[in-house]
Amino acid sequence: MPEVSGAYSLDISTTAISQPLRLSMQQSLRPNALEDTAGFGRWWFDPETSQIVLSAAAARYLNVGERHYHRVDDCFIHLVADDMLRLMRKMNSRPAHLFHCEFRVISTTEGLRWLRLNSLPEEASAPNILSGIVVDITAIKLTAMRERLGFELTAFLVGSHTLSDAVTNVIQLICKNLGWEWGAYWALEHSPQGVPQLACKHHWHHPEHDMTAFSATSAALRMVHGEGLVGRVWQSGKPSWVEDMASDSRFLRRTSARACQLWSGYVFPVTYLSEDGQQHTPGVLEFYSSLSRQPEAQLPNLSATIGALIAQTAQRLEHQAQILHMAQVDELTGLANRSHFHAQLAKACAQTTKASASFGLMFIDLDRFKAINDAFGHDAGNVVLCEFARRLQALVPDGASAGRLGGDEFALLLPGCAVQALATLAEEILQTARTPFIYEGVELAISASIGISTWPENGKTVPELLRSADSAMYRIKQQGKNGCDFFSNTSPCVLAQQQSSLAQRLAIETELHHALQGNELFLVYQPIIDITTGKLHAVEALIRWKRPDGKWIPPDVFIPIAEQSHLIVQIGKWVIAQACRDLAQLRKIHFKDLKIHVNMAASEFTSSALPEELLRLVTALGIEPQSVSLELTEGMLMKHPDQVIPVMHTLRRLGFEISLDDFGMGHSSLSLLKNLPISSLKIDRSFVTGLGQQSHDSAIVKTIVDLGLHLNLKTIAEGIETESQLEILKQSGCTLVQGFLLSKPLSLADLLTHNPTGRWDVISNF
Ligand code: C2E
Ligand code: MG
Ligand code: MG
Repeated sequence: MPEVSGAYSLDISTTAISQPLRLSMQQSLRPNALEDTAGFGRWWFDPETSQIVLSAAAARYLNVGERHYHRVDDCFIHLVADDMLRLMRKMNSRPAHLFHCEFRVISTTEGLRWLRLNSLPEEASAPNILSGIVVDITAIKLTAMRERLGFELTAFLVGSHTLSDAVTNVIQLICKNLGWEWGAYWALEHSPQGVPQLACKHHWHHPEHDMTAFSATSAALRMVHGEGLVGRVWQSGKPSWVEDMASDSRFLRRTSARACQLWSGYVFPVTYLSEDGQQHTPGVLEFYSSLSRQPEAQLPNLSATIGALIAQTAQRLEHQAQILHMAQVDELTGLANRSHFHAQLAKACAQTTKASASFGLMFIDLDRFKAINDAFGHDAGNVVLCEFARRLQALVPDGASAGRLGGDEFALLLPGCAVQALATLAEEILQTARTPFIYEGVELAISASIGISTWPENGKTVPELLRSADSAMYRIKQQGKNGCDFFSNTSPCVLAQQQSSLAQRLAIETELHHALQGNELFLVYQPIIDITTGKLHAVEALIRWKRPDGKWIPPDVFIPIAEQSHLIVQIGKWVIAQACRDLAQLRKIHFKDLKIHVNMAASEFTSSALPEELLRLVTALGIEPQSVSLELTEGMLMKHPDQVIPVMHTLRRLGFEISLDDFGMGHSSLSLLKNLPISSLKIDRSFVTGLGQQSHDSAIVKTIVDLGLHLNLKTIAEGIETESQLEILKQSGCTLVQGFLLSKPLSLADLLTHNPTGRWDVISNF
């Protein structure tokens, strides 16, 4: 009696099997060993009766015990429903022709497997019987899938610019390729108390299934270490299967899983090893199916690869994000930097169409910021900038961007803002700028000047919009600062004025080069008198520039320009050399003990070569260093104390004197002053001006004089214009005085011809 399989004895002569089927089977009989060795099973199907017979191997593949079925669908009960319909359509198609079909079978022991069923040509003796083979293609399928998945994953992960994009795409890819209906990524975050937890940040589900309820439940959950299945996988770093989601107590979303008919799933960690060999798990991936899937042997390997790829991508994107952040963000304030803000503005110009809303550009410049920087130093300036940026950020509406364009200039890009809304916001910004800033317990007061331009009325390109906002801001500065204005086309004169002031600046800079070479610069000397003796104590060298056209340019105008262009170093060298030469000449006549005061720029004082150069100069001229007093302002000192103070110490060791100019304006701390290597203080002119009128100023002057006495410093009052100022200074104990009342600055020639014993009157006017 022929048998289909040795393992299962089946009598094919039984009348239960139709005659044509039996015939076909007899002709196809081969040793069973062949099937097992070659890895296939056989089947015979009679479409007339719908009976099917399976070889032992085929029955095993299909996960059924019986080999003879009266109804074909009975032997396909473990097929995934969709696949079964497809297979049956092929097997029942008429006229019959050769076909093959791939389908999935869920086995209780091996999980999901893929089979391929092929039909073979009809046997001549059994023309109406279909027969063929069935092969387990799970391994091939998985290898191909892994390859495809690996490739597509890499393409996604490399091409994605955000982790969110990458992960959402990956979840979708895995679901589609591995037959899951719902997938999610749980990412690390910190609770408000700082506890690390996982949140379901990205999820995807097959559009054919309504799983919104399960997605919503998942998104609302947070899992700490060890909590629920996700928390356990996170804690252990090991993957886990859930075979029955509705009853597994580790699974916390049982109710919504049941409601969405999700059945089984696989949860695995996203892990990577850091350079120190430590394993990190920054997230967990989970995939669920509405089928009852069993643990599949190949998944752990696959999930390890996927997890590692995602972790790598997360690291890469984080790294990229850091680089991008550095390139786009102003380090000090955290706002967009100049180039990034310009790029955002350019994008807004390109994308905004007439049909869509317009946008506004607000240009904000802080008033009096430089004074704070000069007086309190850069740290104080930075505190003001950071705090102002923070306040600004708190005021800007959603969708707007804030940038720091440099120094104390800020800008806002405000999409869709109506004029009224812009004006209200500007008012709030002015208000917040006026709210004092606190630095080391001291209140610093500033204000802001704001200019506004709108697209497209005031410009359609970045330069046009910036120029308009800038000129509106400039008008506010001109009108006394602390205000806001919209650009108006009626203000082209302001623009011209502004542009011409820039042009003027550049012209002065160029002319200064020539002035240095062409003997257009010269020095005048303003006497500093000792009122106890009425004698000339010192002269302060003050630079003058007379252009070939006869026009005088005041030092207040050209010195700041020279300071910005570094021309100041050359100018400074010329001033000190000329002043020392002139002093040598004055001493030869009647001013034997005369000292000279020379104003210095900050950049001169930061040069460590200065002391040696000066020493060489005075030695060559036969002047002792004690007769040269270098003036620097508190602001200069506070700007670069680390560089300036060591140079000051060296100068003092060599014997030079140092005078703190414009004292009282810069708020240098008393503890700093106590340790400064200075020899005199020059009371700022503004205090002297108020003497006799402002009671505060008398008190301040008295305090400075007392301070000088206690610190063993000489105190010089400058800018004395009236007898009453002089009288008050005398009473305050101030002995060294300088001002127009006593003498305006004099030329060297005037000094040389002056009678040293006479009263100092106004004799020249420079
Ligand atoms: P400063 O060092 O505080 O010089 C004193 C200024 O006050 C001088 O102005 C002087 O002419 C003016 N002055 C003196 N007495 C009176 C007075 O009674 N009433 C009024 N209203 N003004 C008085 P000047 O010469 O225009 O210099 C302005 C500033 O330019 C100086 O202020 C100094 O900071 C700078 N400067 C002048 N020469 C040089 C220089 O050679 N090198 C550097 N780096 N800066 C210089
Ligand atoms: Mg001075
Ligand atoms: Mg001064």
